[in-house]
Amino acid sequence: MTSTAITAAELLTARHLINGEWLGEADTERLNPARPGELAALSPSGTAADVDAAITAAAAAQPGWAALPAPSRGAILIAAGNLLIERQTAIAEDLVREEGKTLAEAKGEVKRASDVLRFFGSLGWAATGEVLPSGLPDTTITTRREPLGVVGLITPWNFPIAIPAWKTAPALISGNAVVIKPAELTPLSATHLARALQDAGLPAGVFNVVHGKGRVVGDALARDPRIAGLSFTGSTNVGLGLQEILNGRRARVQLEMGGKNGVLVLDDADPRKAAQVVAVGAFGLTGQACTATSRVYVTPGIRAAFLEALTAEAAAYSTGDGLDIVNSGEARMGAVVSRQQFEQDQAAVRSAVERGATLLHGEYDGDPSGALFFPAAVLTDLPFDDAAVTEEIFGPVVAVLEVPDYEAGLAAINDSRYGLTAGICTDSLARATDFAARAQAGVIKVNRPTAGLDLNVPFGGVKDSSTNTFREQGRSALDFFTWGKTVYTGV
Ligand code: NAD
Repeated sequence: MTSTAITAAELLTARHLINGEWLGEADTERLNPARPGELAALSPSGTAADVDAAITAAAAAQPGWAALPAPSRGAILIAAGNLLIERQTAIAEDLVREEGKTLAEAKGEVKRASDVLRFFGSLGWAATGEVLPSGLPDTTITTRREPLGVVGLITPWNFPIAIPAWKTAPALISGNAVVIKPAELTPLSATHLARALQDAGLPAGVFNVVHGKGRVVGDALARDPRIAGLSFTGSTNVGLGLQEILNGRRARVQLEMGGKNGVLVLDDADPRKAAQVVAVGAFGLTGQACTATSRVYVTPGIRAAFLEALTAEAAAYSTGDGLDIVNSGEARMGAVVSRQQFEQDQAAVRSAVERGATLLHGEYDGDPSGALFFPAAVLTDLPFDDAAVTEEIFGPVVAVLEVPDYEAGLAAINDSRYGLTAGICTDSLARATDFAARAQAGVIKVNRPTAGLDLNVPFGGVKDSSTNTFREQGRSALDFFTWGKTVYTGV
C-alpha cells in the first residue's frame, strides 16, 4: 500500500482502469461550470470493446477475490477509505472543478465516501449467516450469502465520488468484481476512488472503470450476459430503459432514480425553523440532490410567516465559485453542473411565472461571465399541476402551495409519480406518526431536511424513484450483491 499524497493537477486526466492498467486516449474535455473556458478534466470516450475488456478482466479476477478471507477484503477497503481522507482536499478540489458544488460540500462528500469504504470494510469481520434447526435427525441447517460474480455500476454526476463508493464497497466486500461507468461530466472523482483502491492493494481486475457516453458504455454494460447484476443511479427515463434491457435475461437490477420530494408544513410548526429545514433541503448542494426538497405544502395559518422566513433564507444562499473561498468565502451555493441543467432550471421558473406564479426570490438577470450560477428560487401561487410542482427540476427551485389542512397536504405529497423522500414540519407527535405511516416515500423526515442521509441505514424509494426491491446503504446494501444459499449438514 502507498500513502503518497496526490495533487489535483496529477489527475486532470482520467483514464479507463482495465485489469490494473490505466488506458485510453483522453480526448473528451470537461469545462469548469464556475469558470467559463477553464478545463476541469480530460477523459477517454470508451467503446463497447473497452467494456468487453473490462468485463473479461473482472470475470478472471473475481474468483480469486472472492476466495480471500472477508476480513482481508475488508482491510483493503479500510485502507482505501483512509487514503481518501489523506487526499481529501486534493480530491475535493477536483470534484468542485468538475461538478460545481462548494468546497465544504465536496470535502463532506469525500469524507462520506471514505466512511462508506470503512463501514463496509469493517463488515468483513461481521458477515453473518443463520444457523437453523432441521426437522431431520442429526442435521444442521446454515445459510450463506454468495457473491453474484461480475457486477456493473452506472452512476450520476451529482455525488460523483460518494455514489460510486456506496455501490462499490458493498459489492467488493461481498466478493464481487466491478465494472463501473461513471457520469461523463465527472470523470475525475471516480478516478480518485479507483486510485485509492489500487494504492490500497486491490488486485488487478477486481475494480475496473470505463468512461464514456451512457448510450455506448452504459448500454454495452447492461447488455453483456456476463454482468450478473446492474446497479444504476440516475434519471428515471434512463433507469426504466435499462430495466427493459435487463428484464430480457436473468440478471439483477437495482435502480435509484428521480425524486420530487415534498415537505408538509403545518400551522403548529415554528415558521423560522421550518424555513431552515426547507432551505437546506432545497438549496443545499445547489438543489442538485435526488433527495432535494422541491415542493412545499403549507396550511393557511403559517403560510405568510413561513414564506417570509423562506424568502430570507433564500437570500442568504449567495452563489459563487466553490473554490473561490479566499475572495468570496461566503458563497453558500456553487455552480449548476452544466448549461443544459441551467437552462432547465431557468425554463422551470419562467414557465411557472408565465402561468401566474409569484417569484418571491430568485430573479435571474444574467451573469456576463457566463458562469453557471443560478439563484435560490422560491415560487408561490402556482397551479398544482404546474411542471415546477410535478416534474423533477434538479436545481435550486422550490414551489410553495397552500393546502386547507393536514389531510389535503398529505394527499398532495402522495400525488406524485415519485416517492423518494418526504418531510413534515410539525410539533404534533400524532401528526408526525401518522405522516410516517401514510406518506408514500422510502425515507421520511420529521422536522429535518429531505436531503441528507446517514450511511448505516437503508436508502431507496418507491414508485418511479426506485426499483423498490433492494435497498442501498447500511447492511441492507449487501442483499443486492449476494444471493442466498441454504446448507443441510448431516453427521
Ligand atoms: P442520467 O440518467 O442522465 O445519467 C446517469 C448515468 O447513466 C450516467 O453515467 C449516464 O452516462 C448513464 N446513462 C445515460 N444514458 C444511458 C443509457 N442509455 N444507457 C446506459 N447508461 C446511460 O442522470 P444524471 O443527469 O447523471 O443524474 C441526475 C439524475 O440522477 C436525477 O434524475 C436524480 O434524481 C438522479 N439521482 C438519483 C439518486 C437516487 O439515489 N435515487 C441519487 C442521485 C441522483
